[in-house]
Amino acid sequence: MAGSSGDVSESARKLVGKVALITGGASGIGECTARLFVKHGARVVVADIQDEAGARLCAALREGSASYVHCDVTVEDDVAAAVDHAVARFGKLDVMFNNAGIGGAACHSILESTKADFERVLSVNLVGPFLGTKHAARVMVQAGRGGCIIGTASLAAAVAGAASHAYTCAKRGLVGLTLNAAAELGRHGIRVNCVSPAAAATPLATGYVGLDGEAFEAAMEAVANLKGVRLRVVDIAAAVLFLASDDARYISGHNLLIDGGFSVVNPSFGIFKD
Ligand code: NAD
Repeated sequence: MAGSSGDVSESARKLVGKVALITGGASGIGECTARLFVKHGARVVVADIQDEAGARLCAALREGSASYVHCDVTVEDDVAAAVDHAVARFGKLDVMFNNAGIGGAACHSILESTKADFERVLSVNLVGPFLGTKHAARVMVQAGRGGCIIGTASLAAAVAGAASHAYTCAKRGLVGLTLNAAAELGRHGIRVNCVSPAAAATPLATGYVGLDGEAFEAAMEAVANLKGVRLRVVDIAAAVLFLASDDARYISGHNLLIDGGFSVVNPSFGIFKD
């Protein structure tokens, strides 16, 4: 897999000496990012509710470079403890990746949407990043060394009709949280950004769409703006790596779309003759 396989040469490593915490790190985008971060020299805390998968991942990563912690991002004590675990285990926290999320009910009609699903999706996808940002900022501000906070928003935050009302509102809220936190934390040298991917085949996305593997990717490519390339989790991890690294040292308050131009393209382009 491009961007996540093979060794990265010493001089090309972008996160040497950095400590990162990744929520939702046991699967999909979070797992891929954990692997890539370690390849780039970071030490990583994987925080998730899938304890077996998270522990297995950390055991497979370079010895001493990863630690698993159980953390339900909707529970403030869990999030605070995960942040404190990173500091206790590795001495500090440089990068917080608020990535855990759920798809919620695959229901696009507001008539059939339930309050319980709406609240559950907001709780994981928005309250979770709020708590992660709060507690990461707590230790970063106190340490006085700056830092970097990244959230996983979604294309659904930029384009209406791409997901349920609950998911769309949560991800749009996460973009707002990103901007507001960037405004507050800039004075402490803390950058706050988010990524907004289109659909990549992970358990969350395939479960939501009801298609898997090749069928999922073919369906997404059919509606994509950019043809001949399919979005993979490594592409998202590469964008997160960029934002976490010093390559992005003056980038804050940014929502990085990873959508092949989908959100900015007029779908009727080309129907008019010159
Ligand atoms: P995934 O299902 O592979 O991973 C999500 C992870 O979050 C899982 O490991 C899960 O256990 C964890 N999680 C769920 N609820 C949690 C909780 N309460 N506390 C802690 N961890 C919890 O899916 P993914 O696609 O890798 O999702 C990662 C993020 O990317 C999500 O925020 C999702 O909304 C976002 N996203 C995904 C896509 C896509 O197409 N895959 C597109 C845009 C945004």
